[in-house]
Amino acid sequence: MKPKSQCPLCSEELELREVAPCMYCGGYPEELNHFHEGQHTYAELEIFPNYKLVLCDFCQVDFGSHDPEFYGFHRSKKIGYEYMKHTFKVVPLSIGQDKYCTSCQLRLKYLDFVAAIRKENGK
Ligand SMILES: [Zn+2]
Ligand SMILES: [Zn+2]
Repeated sequence: MKPKSQCPLCSEELELREVAPCMYCGGYPEELNHFHEGQHTYAELEIFPNYKLVLCDFCQVDFGSHDPEFYGFHRSKKIGYEYMKHTFKVVPLSIGQDKYCTSCQLRLKYLDFVAAIRKENGK
């Protein structure tokens, strides 16, 4: 299978990066340092029904500040930590690899999630 090398949102060429476990911010270089320094805890959560992501403690709380329209929802849709469900799955605490879009500043894991939820929302 040929690995995807284009961003599903903006079609930009993706680059391979070392990533921290957080699927939102794990591609930022400083997050690798934060990971090694043990600055964050990580958990798998069901963000929206049937959409699970591993997020760090910061991104879990910060999620409520995202624009619901970015995910294809109406802007009045309530999103955020209080609407998430913990899966209580054990998250492997290791540095991984993922593709990264320098223009969206997101990992492919997250870009795929955004593309899927937008599609489900008819966007
Ligand atoms: Zn992109
Ligand atoms: Zn994070």
